[in-house]
Amino acid sequence: MPLHNGPQHEGRHLSVNPFLGPANPVGDMLEAPPKHRLPDGPMAPSTAYQLVHDELMLDGNARLNLATFVTTWMEPQAGILMAECRDKNMIDKDEYPRTAELERRCVAMLADLWHAPDPSAATGCSTTGSSEACMLAGMAMKRRWMRRNADRYPSPDARPNLVMGVNVQVCWDKFCTFWEVEPRQVPMEGERFHLDAAAAAALCDENTIGVVGVLGSTFDGSYEPVADLCAALDELQERTGLDVPVHVDGASGAMVAPFLDEDLVWDFRLPRVASVNTSGHKYGLVYPGVGWVLWRDAETLPEELVFRVNYLGGDMPTFALNFSRPGAQVVAQYYTFLRLGREGYRAVQQASRDVATGLSARIGALGDFRLLTRGDELPVFAFTTAPEVTAYDVFDVSRRMRESGWLVPAYTFPANRQDLSVLRVVCRNGFSEDLADLFAEDLARLLPDLRRQPRPLTGDRNAATGFHH
Ligand SMILES: *Cc1c(COP(=O)(O)O)cnc(C)c1O
Repeated sequence: MPLHNGPQHEGRHLSVNPFLGPANPVGDMLEAPPKHRLPDGPMAPSTAYQLVHDELMLDGNARLNLATFVTTWMEPQAGILMAECRDKNMIDKDEYPRTAELERRCVAMLADLWHAPDPSAATGCSTTGSSEACMLAGMAMKRRWMRRNADRYPSPDARPNLVMGVNVQVCWDKFCTFWEVEPRQVPMEGERFHLDAAAAAALCDENTIGVVGVLGSTFDGSYEPVADLCAALDELQERTGLDVPVHVDGASGAMVAPFLDEDLVWDFRLPRVASVNTSGHKYGLVYPGVGWVLWRDAETLPEELVFRVNYLGGDMPTFALNFSRPGAQVVAQYYTFLRLGREGYRAVQQASRDVATGLSARIGALGDFRLLTRGDELPVFAFTTAPEVTAYDVFDVSRRMRESGWLVPAYTFPANRQDLSVLRVVCRNGFSEDLADLFAEDLARLLPDLRRQPRPLTGDRNAATGFHH
């Protein structure tokens, strides 16, 4: 029996710990500050810091978050640079011309990396992430389609559509909703968990603004067949005259494939690929807040979408949804490009792929699971329970792994594989062999317990799954 005494207080009277401040710690503050309206007056910075810091301790440990694709570790030097630049607004090109120049160099490096036929003619920009990048690419596709169809749009029978796999990231659903474009989605079929080239071409018609190919599906880490897609659309053009452009959503893969799969042709080497995006903050290896989008040439980005801001006495073209935006992430991207070079990126991504393929093999060997992918495209793999496993399901595994601190999402696939639920592991820089060993040991240790369950036990599946895009 615990020992308690003294009066029991109601409310939050005097609940501010005197240790939270210097000499006269809490001033005349007698109660903890309100959380849902502005406090009446100021408090000492140390007190405010401690209150916020303490609350955030309950956030998960980012490094153990195997759900996210987004960078959770950078070198201290990158952190210093970012702190040095946190007061710079990316849009103030005239005030911060060197930051603007670093952005320009990053675009040039990506144009070269993605084999733009004439890198100096390629055009592109930084964004807050791939979502904004995809909005911009989608807007450019829609605008180009509008120009081609100026004689019949707008009219009720000319409703623009965008063709994609059902496995696209949610940003494409947003694009279609925000910009009033009809989404046309190729469903999953059997063991095919992403877009099929022929099925995509079959969905195209005169109102199709483009087709999205995903280099690196978020559902299972597989690459979509971009070259096959382009070939199917070439064939469509020969047959019908329809000339449908392709946008490659390379949020993850556009920073993996150029280093690890050099022979895979998915980028501007394919004449049909009009634009490519990536998330600088995923396998670009920068902390959250940066993405990139590039167009093959100036022609693919309609001039009327471009706005101009002051720059060194002249003006600089910009294309963005935001106006103000931090410059630090762009600087950190340039730092990382400079720091690693091609060989450095290759080594880092290869290490992540080795961890992914090694861990997927260990999980496959446990016997309880069936691998859908092995982590040999994106360093990401998905697996489900073996058919004979009936005592527990993937949601139980996700929930129980949380007890050891691991965040592994479990989720159900979309049409036509809603019968299939999977777990997914994203291996990123910083998820080392050692951490992967600990992960495999924790999973193996859980299994006897899970096998003894009478049946799957996770009532609230949404609570177990977490964010999985
Ligand atoms: C993550 C992701 C996005 C969205 O990117 P953000 O950088 O998070 O905005 C879009 N598409 C794919 C394929 C992704 O993996």
